[in-house]
Amino acid sequence: MTILGVGVLKGLGVTLKTFLETYPWGRVLLRAVGIPSANGLVTIQYPDERQQHSERFRYFPFLVYDKTPDDLRCVSCKICEQECPPACIHIVGPAKDEQGRPLKAHGRTYPVKFDIDMAICMSCRICVDVCPFDAIEMDNQYEFASPDRFGRLVFDKQQLLKSAEYFKQIKPSEAAEVDARLAAKQAKTAPPAKPAVPPNPSSA
Ligand code: SF4
Ligand code: SF4
Repeated sequence: MTILGVGVLKGLGVTLKTFLETYPWGRVLLRAVGIPSANGLVTIQYPDERQQHSERFRYFPFLVYDKTPDDLRCVSCKICEQECPPACIHIVGPAKDEQGRPLKAHGRTYPVKFDIDMAICMSCRICVDVCPFDAIEMDNQYEFASPDRFGRLVFDKQQLLKSAEYFKQIKPSEAAEVDARLAAKQAKTAPPAKPAVPPNPSSA
């Protein structure tokens, strides 16, 4: 037989236990009545102390480059710009020559301008999920507070660029998955190896 309200009481019990665990006297009280209690302190002495975030913690996006900053993976396809729910990505590009042909760097077209308005970004990660080139990833930096809303919180391409090495450091598992995906893609598009030329018997 189901007793109505048991779930609510259990929930209130968990809330009360968590509340008591937050205080030293509360933990003493819990132990005194035989309830095991963890250190429930959830605040730290920020900014002297920093919280260790899990690898999956995400804040704002950044643009990934491979070896040098002009070797960015972004090809300016603008898919992320179209899919960003609050429309906080603004891209101009790709860069073109005098004849209107797209310029390339490291074999790829690239954006002339790539801005993200961090004051509007809601860290949803949709830009990362829709990017076909693994060119944009989520950062774990969150200390952006500034009184200068437009001067400091609209990040341009230079501010957004971070190396693939940095991505590996902050999110090793995710970076390994991305590397494997890119390597598989590269293997598919690589030209087939030329057959070995048989030795010329006349030259022997
Ligand atoms: S970050 Fe990705 S989706 Fe956005 S424009 Fe660049 S390549 Fe396209
Ligand atoms: S994380 Fe979401 S809101 Fe922020 S830029 Fe990407 S798609 Fe837009």
